[in-house]
Amino acid sequence: MMASIARTAALPLLLLLAALVPFSNNDFYVALGVSLLMYATLATAWGVFAGPTKYISLATAAFFGVGAYTVGLFYEKIPMLLLYPLAAIIGAVLAAFVGLTTLRIQGMYFTIFTFGLAELIRQFMTWYQRNVSGSVGVYILTDISARQIYWSLLVLLALTLLGSWLLSRSRWGLALLMIGEDELAARHSGVRTTAVKVIALAVTSAVIAVVGAIVAPRWTYLDPNIAFNPTLSFMRAVIALLGGMQRFWGPLAGAIPLVILFDQLNARYPTSYTLILGLLFMVIVFVLPDGILGLLPKLQRLRAPAAPAVTPAPGAGTLSEPVTPAAPARQASPGVDGTSGVVTTAPATGTTLLAVRDLRKTFGGIVAVDGLSFEIREGEVFGIIGPNGSGKTTVLNLISGVYEPDRGEIVFLGRPITGKPPEEIARLGIARTFQLVRIYPALTCLDHVIPAALFGGHARTLMEARDHAVHILEELGMGAFLHVPAGQLNFIDQKRLELARALALRPKLLLLDEWLAGLNPSEMVIGMELIESLRGRGMTIVLIEHLMQAVRRLCDRCIVMSFGQKIAEGVPEDVLRDPEVVRVYLGEADDA
Ligand code: ADP
Ligand code: MG
Repeated sequence: MMASIARTAALPLLLLLAALVPFSNNDFYVALGVSLLMYATLATAWGVFAGPTKYISLATAAFFGVGAYTVGLFYEKIPMLLLYPLAAIIGAVLAAFVGLTTLRIQGMYFTIFTFGLAELIRQFMTWYQRNVSGSVGVYILTDISARQIYWSLLVLLALTLLGSWLLSRSRWGLALLMIGEDELAARHSGVRTTAVKVIALAVTSAVIAVVGAIVAPRWTYLDPNIAFNPTLSFMRAVIALLGGMQRFWGPLAGAIPLVILFDQLNARYPTSYTLILGLLFMVIVFVLPDGILGLLPKLQRLRAPAAPAVTPAPGAGTLSEPVTPAAPARQASPGVDGTSGVVTTAPATGTTLLAVRDLRKTFGGIVAVDGLSFEIREGEVFGIIGPNGSGKTTVLNLISGVYEPDRGEIVFLGRPITGKPPEEIARLGIARTFQLVRIYPALTCLDHVIPAALFGGHARTLMEARDHAVHILEELGMGAFLHVPAGQLNFIDQKRLELARALALRPKLLLLDEWLAGLNPSEMVIGMELIESLRGRGMTIVLIEHLMQAVRRLCDRCIVMSFGQKIAEGVPEDVLRDPEVVRVYLGEADDA
């Protein structure tokens, strides 16, 4: 309660204090204050758009310069008070034009375009002044004092902060956030993304133009190099980064230390100033990717007492629930169901390939995997089954290095691999496919498979990798598609392609996440035969599967998961008959 009052009161108090600075009669403070307010306003306005949408514009200098020139060109003909709205309108119209033409291009192209735009306007103004008005710059001779500029900026900053705060609580703010996360999903939710982006860009650009208009009289003489100084765009980006892009206080937190620092640097090292700016930029990106304010949650976490340890002792098989004890040794003949008649199995070596001990992973309040232990032996097909959301994919993500477990250990070939990154685990010989197929639609099938052969460390040359890739694709029956873009494949072929990519690593362990899901009945037969042939060659496979027919036919052993825990383990025949399994899972399974 007190904290929230303090927080609400902090900003008005700060602004009120800031309003008193000019009364100090210290010109140095006023000048520094003008810089500070200018950058804080620029960074706030910029952050309103760039923060949530992640559209990084480098055109701040363009809009700023447009505002400054509005004053420079018209201050003798139009009253000052009208020049501010005029600058805002010109800035907004220009931004809307830029937005309509460029916001369809995303990411880096937008950034490059805006940078080019700033440069284009600067060159245009230079040309215009030389050839049309006959001078390089304009004089701005007004009786506006530094103090007036200071107060005007303070009002604008207050308004911008207010706007930013209101926006973050409005559906517009939500729309901008959605655009940043997933533009297509936003559109499917009914957000008019183009309109939202163009309007947001126009409004922030209008604010930036007004900053330019307010500050212009400070220079007395204005030329394109001053008005459209690209350093401005970078400074503003550094400030926003230092403060923390997506936070309300971020721009202020970044502006205060940096403006003071730059002021000092500029005074002492005027020539190496931009060099230091560039270095600082890199240091910030490295050390403080979330900005100063991004540190706060981390500090709070440090101060908070450590979470109490849940069930201490690990050790294999600590679960009390399992109804069926783990099969003591590899089953000689896997579950043969009437449909397949296949009894091919890899030689039973009995060596443990992968051991998972007391694994736990939470997401916020959700315990996705809870005290899970199991062992996978060389050459077996090991099933993981369970209802949706029971943690199967998370187990795969933990093994393959997508997430680090909160607790527990993963041992592969006798060596702990817990917490290793995905690329390293892939190189060690664990390959995977994804529950939702992940292919690059524009790349050919060959180009999907070659990198895995190359970076997996098996092929020494590109030619070797290519031969290897061709071989694997042919083996999987995809020889006709070597040069076909993956986006043109039908679903089963996309799945086969993912399998080919996984196999190109020459894995010792293959993780298949619902690889058969979504196939039609005849494709299913092909798919199952494919997995069987891999098993026949001695490949160790972890199979997450919903189709009981496939589990019975393909798996040597399986575990059943429910709410992140193992509730049964053993050969499919036994496990699928277990009353507990029937109750929590098979009641809802598709073909039990
Ligand atoms: P399954 O593959 O068995 O359907 P998952 O492993 O995908 O289950 O999910 C287990 C639980 O963990 C679910 O409640 C899911 O919502 C949650 N979960 C999985 N991944 C994440 C994530 N990246 N962030 C938050 N929650 C997650
Ligand atoms: Mg899943």
